[in-house]
Amino acid sequence: MTYPDTELLINGHWVAGSGKRTLDVTDPATSTVIGRVSVAEESQLEEAIAAAHAAFNGWRCISVLERSARLRQAAYLLRQRSDQIGWLLTREQGKPLNEAKAEIATSADILEWFAEEARRTYGRVVPARDPYVRQTVLKEPIGPVAAFTPWNFPLSQAARKIGAALAAGCTMVLKPAEETPASTAALVRSLQDAGLPSGVLNLVYGIPADISSYLIAHPAIRKVSFTGSVPVGKQLAALAGLHMKPATMELGGHAPVLVFADSDIRSAAALMARSKFRNAGQVCVSPTRFLVEAPVMEEFREAFVAESSRINVGSGLEESSDMGPLISSRRLEAVEGLVTDARDNGATVDFGGKRLGNAGNFYAPTVLSNVNRDMRIMNEEPFGPVAILVPFTSLDEAMAEANRLPFGLASYAFTQSASTIAALEKRMEAGMLTINHLGLALPETPFGGVKDSGHGSEGGAEAIEAYLTTKFVSERHAPQA
Ligand code: NAD
Repeated sequence: MTYPDTELLINGHWVAGSGKRTLDVTDPATSTVIGRVSVAEESQLEEAIAAAHAAFNGWRCISVLERSARLRQAAYLLRQRSDQIGWLLTREQGKPLNEAKAEIATSADILEWFAEEARRTYGRVVPARDPYVRQTVLKEPIGPVAAFTPWNFPLSQAARKIGAALAAGCTMVLKPAEETPASTAALVRSLQDAGLPSGVLNLVYGIPADISSYLIAHPAIRKVSFTGSVPVGKQLAALAGLHMKPATMELGGHAPVLVFADSDIRSAAALMARSKFRNAGQVCVSPTRFLVEAPVMEEFREAFVAESSRINVGSGLEESSDMGPLISSRRLEAVEGLVTDARDNGATVDFGGKRLGNAGNFYAPTVLSNVNRDMRIMNEEPFGPVAILVPFTSLDEAMAEANRLPFGLASYAFTQSASTIAALEKRMEAGMLTINHLGLALPETPFGGVKDSGHGSEGGAEAIEAYLTTKFVSERHAPQA
């Protein structure tokens, strides 16, 4: 297979950037340039918005069964193309092939969920005070959407936004990450091949800040959705606010994992180590701060390090690899900087803590302990393969640490105590909490954060709600003579 250059999709046509500018795409496993992605000029952004605007009336008015059918067909095509798209995803993103194929399966699952949910965008009738009045609440698609998706899950993050928006009857201009353009383009092509009308979904790439400032400010765009870092999310949410546009923001996290002495320590450690190093830790819900009840800390540490040492790091294209490289040299340096800061300030490296190999962006699965709250790693999202072990002696102490940071995305806990579970449910400041297993990120369950981790949900019935507006109609008819 050869890695393709990626073009833009504007009003149903695949086109190069009109200014002939391109950006390089780099293989993170070898640091070599493998292809190029077109840069959209401003006139092409205008064309993409015009196409989404023109297509909106047709798409919102066709039968909901037709919208469902297109999404379902796209899911079918994605599954059929799993080998080919999986290879593209691994090549440009670095994750092991089995993770790439799992992401494609998840994306198909997401599109199917929204295909079904499209049929349930119910309004309601409110009983009126006056017997001659009928009060109706209507749900309507909000309009053309500007969506921005990241490089860590180039398919599934895009599928969440596309699925919800298109199911609701919205159209979209999508700007995925320039680091991983071909796999998102393959998802978009599957939707196009599934019979999506021209203009319903447009795909642009380029200079992120130029595109987002143009799209968000444009009067034809009615809704903004972004997945990425907290600083960029705050900028885009501010811009959306300036133009009075609702925004869904799915941002970073620094997920706490509370491990109580009454749980099965060894199996919790093994499960969480595998979860930590999935996609080399470049996951917004990645478990990061492992708060472990002091008497079982040594048992947990030993089991966690043992599992970490079994993680085979290598090119995602090798079947033996459990973990691939980081996306870029910039991310590699960022992770290295956080670990160096911790080590220089007295942290113990229980495992890893170094780059691997002479090419590519490989970093070892890393376990740190003896950390303190002044270290950067305890405050900044590592977005890499680093686990931090912190002992606690009481529920209150664990809760204080879990809720200390401005983030509030995912959280995890292991305990057999019903009263501890009740306390966690009540006191955890997070959009998601999973207890005694990995239960997050299903298409049918809410997915989103609180505090600096953003607002809005990208899963469950809440996800489609974000693309709908509410119209209230009150109608009085004259009493019959
Ligand atoms: P970054 O902030 O430079 O970029 C993150 C993403 O935002 C990229 O896809 C980029 O193309 C996009 N982006 C950047 N500036 C933008 C702008 N002005 N307008 C529109 N899009 C813009 O960071 P990075 O080094 O690429 O990634 C690291 C950080 O990003 C991590 O710390 C993590 O918090 C965050 N991130 C989060 C997720 C997530 O799933 N929530 C995914 C990827 C990255």
